[in-house]
Amino acid sequence: MKLIFLGPPGAGKGTLAARAVDLITVPHISTGAIFRSAIAAKSPLGLTVKAIIDSGKLVDDEATVKLVRERLAQQDVQKGYILDGFPRTIAQAEALAGFSKADKVVNFDIPDTAVLERLSGRRVCRQCGINYHIIFNKPQKEYVCDACGGEVYVRDDDREEAVRKRLEVYREQTAPLIDFYRRQGLLVDVDAQPGTEGVVSNFKKALGI
Ligand code: ADP
Ligand code: ADP
Ligand code: ZN
Repeated sequence: MKLIFLGPPGAGKGTLAARAVDLITVPHISTGAIFRSAIAAKSPLGLTVKAIIDSGKLVDDEATVKLVRERLAQQDVQKGYILDGFPRTIAQAEALAGFSKADKVVNFDIPDTAVLERLSGRRVCRQCGINYHIIFNKPQKEYVCDACGGEVYVRDDDREEAVRKRLEVYREQTAPLIDFYRRQGLLVDVDAQPGTEGVVSNFKKALGI
């Protein structure tokens, strides 16, 4: 199954993807996570995108599409994938249609108030990328990842100024994809407001699994 996860920052896409990969056994591809690893490794890509990401803007379509095209050419994703955080613009969606066809687009339906609450408490493991939340999903030891012992930190783009920018970018550039995919009959709405177990259950129902 080839799925696109579409939704505002902080909607819970990464969290659901981590659960969904066990249900449908396909790789989880998060463009944001790929960029964060590149930044941590100080690779040429990482050095180019760090300031853009920290400010809450989008990386340019050309570089992002190239990255995804190369990733989707690999063997492990030929039967399926979860694309989390891509496409984020109409131009990216049109480019994607030229090299891969998704079966469904999962639209995370969630009000802004919930998104702000999730983003303001989000913490991430610097080493393995797992998400935590200071209220909803705490690591057992503060600042330490349960899975790998890595440092749990606040993403630079989860600071207030960048969050405002990211929500504005979402509304202007990404939200138009909802209608784009609805018109193609690919969109599946999932109520993303309940707790994680509730969202997993809504996802299973929406996809008939
Ligand atoms: P979120 O948790 O907000 O959904 P991501 O981890 O998906 O964030 O992305 C973090 C940042 O990485 C984005 O704000 C953007 O700067 C960059 N990014 C990720 N995916 C894309 C994309 N498809 N196009 C452009 N920039 C992207
Ligand atoms: P996205 O990938 O869409 O940006 P994340 O999966 O990183 O979103 O989730 C954002 C924050 O909200 C994280 O701190 C995560 O632990 C938390 N979170 C995710 N899903 C839920 C949920 N269903 N209920 C409460 N908190 C959640
Ligand atoms: Zn970790």
